[in-house]
Amino acid sequence: MSTTSVPPIIRTHDNVFWFDAAREGRLLIQRCADCGTLRHPPGPVCPSCRSFEWDTLESSRRGTLHSFTVIHHPQDPAFTYPLAVGLIDLEEGTRLVADIEGVDPEDLRLGMDLEVVFGAHAHDETLPRLRPLGGDR
Ligand code: ZN
Repeated sequence: MSTTSVPPIIRTHDNVFWFDAAREGRLLIQRCADCGTLRHPPGPVCPSCRSFEWDTLESSRRGTLHSFTVIHHPQDPAFTYPLAVGLIDLEEGTRLVADIEGVDPEDLRLGMDLEVVFGAHAHDETLPRLRPLGGDR
């Protein structure tokens, strides 16, 4: 059986603020300083007005499950399988992709309430994960 390896996360001038906040357990959303449009993943230019000016908004870390998939293969030693990966609609209006934990994949339902928590990941990074809202930590 072959295994894959998790590629390193590339920190750039445009996303370092996001990874630094994640390490502190905070989920930041990039916001255009000119028109207020929220965007994720982080990028240098506002897709609405082309402004390069931005600041951040701290997310409530709550949202609802928009879509998900359950991965069985290929398997990487850094994860446990079956691995559920979800797309969450955050309360603020942006979306985020992350692994889902704390719930059997058979029990996942679109629209269910989830929260974002943070945990250690490969390459000494801290990344978001999704859990049922109010679930055990
Ligand atoms: Zn803008």
